[in-house]
Amino acid sequence: MTHEVHSLRQQFPMFSGPNPPAYLDNAASSQKPRRVIDRIQRYYEKEHCNVHRGVYKLAEQATSLFEDTRKNVASFIGGVDPREVIFTSGTTEGINLVANTWGDTHVQAGDEILLSISEHHSNIVPWHILAKKKGATVKFIPLDENLRLDWEEAQKLISRRTKIVALAHVSNVLGIIHPVKKLVELARSVGAVSVIDGAQAVPHFDVSMKDLACDFYAFSSHKMCGPTGMGVLYGRQELLDAMPPYKGGGEMIAKVTIEGASWAELPHKFEAGTPHVAGVIGLGEAIDFLRSFDRKAAFASDLALGKQCFEGLKGRKKIQVFLQDVNDWVGILSFHHTSIHPHDIAHVLDADNVCVRAGHHCAQPLLRSLNVAATTRVSPYIYNNESDLQKFFEGLEKAEKLFAK
Ligand code: PMP
Repeated sequence: MTHEVHSLRQQFPMFSGPNPPAYLDNAASSQKPRRVIDRIQRYYEKEHCNVHRGVYKLAEQATSLFEDTRKNVASFIGGVDPREVIFTSGTTEGINLVANTWGDTHVQAGDEILLSISEHHSNIVPWHILAKKKGATVKFIPLDENLRLDWEEAQKLISRRTKIVALAHVSNVLGIIHPVKKLVELARSVGAVSVIDGAQAVPHFDVSMKDLACDFYAFSSHKMCGPTGMGVLYGRQELLDAMPPYKGGGEMIAKVTIEGASWAELPHKFEAGTPHVAGVIGLGEAIDFLRSFDRKAAFASDLALGKQCFEGLKGRKKIQVFLQDVNDWVGILSFHHTSIHPHDIAHVLDADNVCVRAGHHCAQPLLRSLNVAATTRVSPYIYNNESDLQKFFEGLEKAEKLFAK
């Protein structure tokens, strides 16, 4: 174990004490470092207050903490205007927000929404709902034989009818990094807006909105060492300004009369009601944590574990790893066992305190295109070590013995 992994791991209470879990389900959610847990506790113990309301010191301090975090997020995603940072409950809410506001305003009968086949359900279902309501069509870019986005097909599928192109930055099943920048440019060339699902990207590497030049980008705090129920939607100011609000309530208004209401300025127009203040402050702490070490080195270490896992599974009888190479990849690995169901593998592993995910990973269209109903997924992160991987392989062997026919 490198020094970096060792010292990072020590900061996570989940891994202290005897028999810590070999937690290899980080694509579902990451564990939390002590400083994030403590920060949230301190907020509730000594700093809690509603924000943007009270005039007393405590309330002003809570508001400053909240708004300072917005600036922190804005800088973390490449130095955007803080007004372009909308706090949400997660990636799912961010995408639904865009579908229900920009989508509802601009998509009409006959229009098309272009996705990839490897999207998470939260980047499919909101578009299905929108398309059904508007009489639009959802189209899917397939993957090529290397499981990369089929670029030729993407170019064929996109047209002036395309109003929205929505794509995951990183697939939650295959771990592949999609060529987001290229697709954003393609979307722009036909006048479509781009919506990027960054749920699996932001935990692993730095992202820059200026570099990607996308219109919207959504991600979740809980996959990047922050609290659950918290997320971010970045949106280009010009688009956000022109969009109607998503939810109505307190905080998002400029004025309310018995006849109607007018909307607050950005970003508050999209943040109705009392926000998840503890979540925001916890996310800010998670960002500070992620910035406190060499992220590239940490990423290299979790990627190295992913590669070791890939190499260890690739040659095995009865196992199909789907991926042929691990270029442009974050280390998330799904595999199919020809004679053991993923749930059985996961149960056997669980008996030895090894946590992996088994199922369809909320990506049924992708799994259908891979001709499987479920897979087992191993997803290492910055605090995993070789011992975790070794326990996984030992557990897999146990499962193979147990279910040997
Ligand atoms: N998109 C991707 C690629 C994901 O992996 C996930 C979480 N599994 C989501 C969206 C949804 O994120 P959340 O449940 O935090 O809203």
